[in-house]
Amino acid sequence: VIEVIAFDADDTLWETEQSYQEAENLLKSALSRHCDEATIKRRLRETLEANYRCFGFNFKGFALSMIELAVSLSNGRTLGSEIQAIIDMSKGILTSDVQLKHGAAEALAHLGSKYDLMLISMGDPAEQQSKLRRSGLSTSFRRVELGAHKSEAYYRTLFAEHEIRPSRFLMVGDSLEHDILPVLALGGRAVYVPSGPIWWHDEEVDEEVDTRMIERLDSLGELPAYVERLCRS
Ligand SMILES: [Mg+2]
Repeated sequence: VIEVIAFDADDTLWETEQSYQEAENLLKSALSRHCDEATIKRRLRETLEANYRCFGFNFKGFALSMIELAVSLSNGRTLGSEIQAIIDMSKGILTSDVQLKHGAAEALAHLGSKYDLMLISMGDPAEQQSKLRRSGLSTSFRRVELGAHKSEAYYRTLFAEHEIRPSRFLMVGDSLEHDILPVLALGGRAVYVPSGPIWWHDEEVDEEVDTRMIERLDSLGELPAYVERLCRS
């Protein structure tokens, strides 16, 4: 029997990686007169890694790293209009409607009448709060945890604090490392909904993990039927 169903946010309920990809493409075209695309891609990864400690993992930090890179790759000769293009694009992404993943709204509406729904997201809490508001899904959840670092220790504390029995908890997400493996390790249930062909977040996962043993759905549209099967078995 399942009592609590928790959802990851970025790239599970709504598109996120896509915005980062669009931003990177804009940066490549804005800086094309200074540098080739492969170098921009490599240097952007390096800049993000170096700035992570200062800016954290959020889109505003990403925008600042893009500006820093524009200045650096142009040897300080980047134009105000190139910087402005990066800023305009960032503002657009931070204020526009959030694009929901296929089947997300329907799955929440269907499951919300029978189960306690939770949202557990990593990343910058203020940015996540803004995305949740723009997604139109705010009222779907009984509990919302923003800015969580989703490790085994995190879930253990969560279960204790909310008096959740792991066997009655189902986590739904697109990251093996953060949504699936730690929950399974604690005796909870988890279903993996990969967001696309690129598993950005899962590069760190141990090669020994047998991904064939992990329950997997192609989209959230399949979740209500999956939960029904789970509760019957
Ligand atoms: Mg995610």
